[in-house]
Amino acid sequence: EAYLTAIDRANPVLNAYVAVTAEKARYMAKTSDTRLAKGEGGALEGIPLGIKDLFATEGIHTQACSHVLDGFKPRYESTVTSNLWADGAVMLGKLNMDEFAMGSSNETSYYGPVINPWRRSRVDTVVMPTTHQGDGGFVSAGGTKTARTLDNAQLVPGGSSGGSASSVAAFLCAGATATDTGGSIRQPAALTGTVGIKPTYGRCSRWGIVAFASSLDQAGPIARDVRDAAILLKSMASVDPKDTTSVDRPVPNYEAAIGKPIKGMKVGIPKEYRVDGMPEDIEALWQKGIAWLKDAGAEIVDISLPHTKYALPAYYIVAPAEASSNLARYDGVRYGLRVLGKDIVDMYEKTRAAGFGREVKRRIMIGTYVLSAGYYDAYYLQAQKVRTLIKRDFENVFAAGVDIILTPATPSAAFGIADEDMASDPVKMYLNDIFTVTVNMAGLPGISVPAGLDGKGLPLGLQLIGRPFDEETLFQTANVIE
Ligand code: GLN
Repeated sequence: EAYLTAIDRANPVLNAYVAVTAEKARYMAKTSDTRLAKGEGGALEGIPLGIKDLFATEGIHTQACSHVLDGFKPRYESTVTSNLWADGAVMLGKLNMDEFAMGSSNETSYYGPVINPWRRSRVDTVVMPTTHQGDGGFVSAGGTKTARTLDNAQLVPGGSSGGSASSVAAFLCAGATATDTGGSIRQPAALTGTVGIKPTYGRCSRWGIVAFASSLDQAGPIARDVRDAAILLKSMASVDPKDTTSVDRPVPNYEAAIGKPIKGMKVGIPKEYRVDGMPEDIEALWQKGIAWLKDAGAEIVDISLPHTKYALPAYYIVAPAEASSNLARYDGVRYGLRVLGKDIVDMYEKTRAAGFGREVKRRIMIGTYVLSAGYYDAYYLQAQKVRTLIKRDFENVFAAGVDIILTPATPSAAFGIADEDMASDPVKMYLNDIFTVTVNMAGLPGISVPAGLDGKGLPLGLQLIGRPFDEETLFQTANVIE
């Protein structure tokens, strides 16, 4: 009830939820009460969660925040959410996101942008009078004092899991599901001061998650701290016969990794992540992170991931290529929206023209182009080769004994809604993913941990990248930074 009240109050401003399932939440909570009373509670019994609108939830609004899926209520439940409900979690509702998870600011949603609960602040220096005899006989010795003034400008929470991040940061759920194809868990987590982990590709089943780029998509949690993220991931992860890319490996007790010392751990610092024009705040944060890990007994080593600079362009070929193929299914026949036309082809065209937003159309066009005869070899095949080289860079570093890699999570703190630069130039928006896409290209686990504030009082995150299926080391190290 406390969460439902908080949603009622804050959601009209934040726009984090696109559907609130209050009745279902109350029903599930009641069932949890009964189970707890009998001493049969699961690991998440009674814990209220928000679910990204990309996860199919049986009989409940599931639209990937796209107009083309209008009215779609699946008759099945995603494996990840099924796992959460089996452990006793309670669903509060469906969370806003970029349309089909394409974006880095949560401004491409059919339901409008999500607002970040954080605000910029300004530090003012107030000069005190040297002596001042007030009415109450107050005498000031003079000098200066500082005060913070809040700026009212609304900021983005990052994307595409902006609703997940914003709702966790604003206490509108205890934790949330999210997905990450090129940074959509880690970037919004960094911009809202929350923890987000993208596990190894194959750790969570993709069954029942609306597909964006199938070889990159992974589910994971956004949570308020590292321990919550560990508990949630444990419940979300599983092998699944319905997703042949899910991996049959026991899911460890991630929580047990928290608090273990990191003495002697080898932490790699990749020089290629020191990008041109990196803001001082980000560089300083990275140095702070290095110092914390060193103080905790880790060994810091300089490493090189030479193909890093090709990751972003290669990602923006591979992801749209897969998206253009995955999105072919929205034809006005099988799902959601249908705009009638004079014949079936006209109906397809009208439905897709009306149903998809600008960014999604841009991706479909890029994807179709790079897959077309004559261009396939020059772009798609080339990007796949680059992908292999990026993966190999990481393999070499881990083979040389590095346990974990530390980088900034994002190149900046949260930016303003409708940022002019980014609105006019999609490539500027894509640059937000510069530190995160490599991890998806290589299929590795990555976590973003809040590590401090910038000069304007906004949260910044550090990213840790680990060996395949070594999420435990991520949690263990993230706990030291947190
Ligand atoms: N911002 C990236 C994109 O738009 C990543 C999205 C994601 O991870 N879902 O493709």
